[in-house]
This record gives sequence, structure tokens and C-alpha cells, in this order.
Amino acid sequence: MQLNSRTAQGRDSETFPSGEAAGDTDLARQWARVRARMQSEIGEVEYRRWLRQAILQGVDGDEVTIVLPTKFLRDWVNKEYGAMLTGLWQAENSGIRRVDIRARPMSRGEADGSLAEKAPVLAIDQGGGPRREPDDRADSAPPLDVRFTFETFVVGKPNEFAYACARRVADGQAPSSFNPLFLYGGVGLGKTHLMHAIAWELSRHSANSVTVAYMSAEKFMHRFISALRKQSTIEFKNQLRSVDVLMIDDLQFLIGKDGTQEEFFHTFNALVDAGKQIIVSADKSPSDLSGIEDRLRTRLSCGMVADVHATTYELRLAILEAKAARAGADVPGKVQEFLAQKITSNVRELEGALNRLIAHAHLFNRKITVETAHEVLHDLLRAYDRKITIEDIQKHVAEHFNIRVSEMSSARRARNIARPRQIAMYLAKQLTTRSLPEIGRKFGNRDHTTVMHAVKQVSMLAEKDSAFSEDVELLRRSLMI
Ligand code: ADP
Ligand code: MG
Repeated sequence: MQLNSRTAQGRDSETFPSGEAAGDTDLARQWARVRARMQSEIGEVEYRRWLRQAILQGVDGDEVTIVLPTKFLRDWVNKEYGAMLTGLWQAENSGIRRVDIRARPMSRGEADGSLAEKAPVLAIDQGGGPRREPDDRADSAPPLDVRFTFETFVVGKPNEFAYACARRVADGQAPSSFNPLFLYGGVGLGKTHLMHAIAWELSRHSANSVTVAYMSAEKFMHRFISALRKQSTIEFKNQLRSVDVLMIDDLQFLIGKDGTQEEFFHTFNALVDAGKQIIVSADKSPSDLSGIEDRLRTRLSCGMVADVHATTYELRLAILEAKAARAGADVPGKVQEFLAQKITSNVRELEGALNRLIAHAHLFNRKITVETAHEVLHDLLRAYDRKITIEDIQKHVAEHFNIRVSEMSSARRARNIARPRQIAMYLAKQLTTRSLPEIGRKFGNRDHTTVMHAVKQVSMLAEKDSAFSEDVELLRRSLMI
């Protein structure tokens, strides 16, 4: 690095302390010109909003490093203006090949201290990310995913209602009947994508900056517990209550976490009473979220509840087409149809399969065909091809727990029999397309409510007890092979 931030900082970068190396001065002048060009290209308003705080940190070989105060700004500038900045730099200095845009590393105090002061959107956590310890969060809080915007969201019958609701809230003009907005549906169907899209949109269009706090319910809990430990709950409460929009992803995580649920309930009320928007996602509707306190359930239901349904063949096809085009990959229609037919579980898996195909084609410099798809995705496809029956499940689970298969249908209620039976019912619901009454019939003509109870019971136990959850997961996987 040849330059420190002080000499090239802000608008004063053209006045230099005497004695500065000539190369540095040149660079700083070039930076000043790049900024001036940027300003005239994108207009004063946008420039002030996104780039005013950019600092030239230095140059290393053919790479210029520019630093922004937050990760959010970094991502935004990268996405929207990265290419333009590189072009302008190259025009100024033909020796520059790349522009590296970074966020200033936060000091811990800063990271803990405030939710957001200047940044219009604050992303505290990304949904579905790896588990982290509470104290780990300051450095690792990832920004919103730049790929999750409305532009990249493919709309079809299964998600059009949720999409329309999300759009409405993202306008910032939604009536109070949209508060809270409760999005629910199975995994990998686009809930987190829609939430991030709302946050991006709010930040893009709101005239005054809107503070959005986005976090998973898990992160909410970690932060709350950490505040309790540090005796800073008042600060925590105040921070959360000062935002304009609060998004909590995967609320089902709060099932059985009573203290955190209570805290969320109070935050929720305070924000709604102050006319602030709340957006929540979960894997089930408020009425099906067992283990949530009734008063919270009631409040969650009283706004707009929108479900994201499982994908249809048409939607899967449209998503594949859009993603292939975006990746600039030549994926023949036949291959898209093949994938859309085969990979039916969720969009995440569909996307994963497409990415694997594309990566394989690049790596081996081969065309993508139905044959290569078969070859590359054989493990995945085999799992889909195999139709799992209720009988398979009963046999497998009975073996695992060392009980007789006939006990699956018997009337015995001893726990060492009843629990495996419940697990088998749960797996039958998960892994087959059979309805609750059909499943009930296969388990000694039991009522569908018994099956429903079993499904809830097993989900709840899995939430609470990680050893139990691993056991169930192991069974599930072994059935899929
Ligand atoms: P969820 O939060 O419901 O589990 P995500 O929002 O994480 O699911 O979505 C999983 C993946 O599928 C993401 O990469 C997301 O971009 C993609 N995806 C889901 N639905 C759509 C859609 N309708 N259009 C484009 N991509 C989608
Ligand atoms: Mg999610």
C-alpha cells in the first residue's frame, strides 16, 4: 500500500501535506477525478448517499483498494457501481486492473454499540446461515444477500400472493392490515429471499433513510441472552425499538424458548404500537406453530398471513430458465425440463443441481445435455427416483428401535413402542405424499389427529433434543438412499 487513508480521505484529498511522495499525490488526484466523474455520472443525490464516505486506502500492484464504512455500503457499491468504478479507474490510470471495495473493519465496541446510525438498511444476520456462538456475532454478521432481490425472484402461482404482499410492504405504503406480514412455507421456497428483497427495496426507494433490522430468530435469541449476561437488556430493547422495520426470519426457532419469546412479544407490541412494520417468516402458519404462546400467535395472525406453496413444474422451469440465463450458461430446454420434472423438493435443491451442472460443464469444457445431467446428478436423482413407502418406513424404524414391525399397528401405548411409532408417522408424512388419514390407516387404523399429534410431537422433541433430532435425521437419510 502506498497511501494511507488520511491523505486521500474525503473531499480534502487534493490538499496534501508537503513532502508526500509524488506517486501518492498522483493517485490521490486520480481518485479525486474518479470521484468527480462518478458524481456526474450517477448524480449528486446517489453519490452522496453511497459514495461520499468512500476512502482510497491505497494501491497494490494493479489493484486499488477503496474502503467504505459499512458492509452494507460495500455490498451496495460493489453491486451497483463496482463495474463503473473499475472503468473510471482504468480510464485514469491504465496500470489499474481491479478495484477492491472493502468495508472498514469494525471495532467490537462499534459493532455491539448501535444497530444502525447512517446505513439505511441494517442486516444483522442472514437466514439459514451456520450456527454461531453469541459472542462471535460482531465480526461475522453477514450483510443482506445481494442476489436476493425482487428482480431475481421468479413469480408463479405458488408464490404470487406472498410476492405481492412483500412488494406492497417494500413500497413503504402498506396499510396497517399488512402489519405484521407473516410469510410461511417449507424450506428452500424463497422466504428469506423475499425478506432480503424487501430490505433492499426499502433502502433503494425511501426518500428518508429507513432503518431495517433483519435477523434470524436464532440470532435474536443469542443477542437477547448475551444482553442478559452483560446486563445490557435496556440497551438491547432500545436498539430494537428504534428501528422502522423489524424482520425476524425462521420464527419457529423460538418454539420452547419462553424467555426469548416473551421478549420478542414485547418488542413486537412496542413496534406495532409505534406504527412500525414487522415482517416474520416461519415454516408454518401461526395457527400451526405449536409451542408458541397464544397471545403471540394471536398477534402474529392479525396482520397479513401469506404462504409460499411448494413449487409447481411451471415455476421450476421458469426458475431454471432465469437462473441459467443469469449465469450465462447454455442449458438446453430439454435439460431444464428434465430437472424441473425430477427435482421437485424445493428451489434450493433445484438451484444446487443447476449449479453443479454448470460447474461441471465449465470444468470439463463439456456441453450440458440430458446425459451429462444424469451422470453429474446421479446421486441426487436416485434419491428422487426411489419411491419410499409407508411399509419401508415402518420396517426401517422398527429395526432401528429393535421392535417388531407389527407393533407399528398395535394398540400398545408403552413409550418404547409409541415413540418409534410416532417417528415412523412423522417420517411417513415427510417422505411420502400420503395424507394424514391415509397414514393413520396404515398404523392400525388410527385417526388422522393421532398422526397430526405424532408429527407435532416429533418436531417439538427434535427442536429440544439434539440427540433425538440426529436420530430422526439419520433414519430419514438412510431411507433416502
Ligand atoms: P427459505 O428461506 O424459504 O428456506 P430461501 O429464500 O433461502 O428459502 O431460498 C432458497 C434458494 O432458492 C435461494 O437461493 C433463493 O434465491 C432461491 N429461490 C427461492 N424461491 C425463488 C424464486 N421464486 N425465484 C428465484 N429464486 C428463488
Ligand atoms: Mg430462510
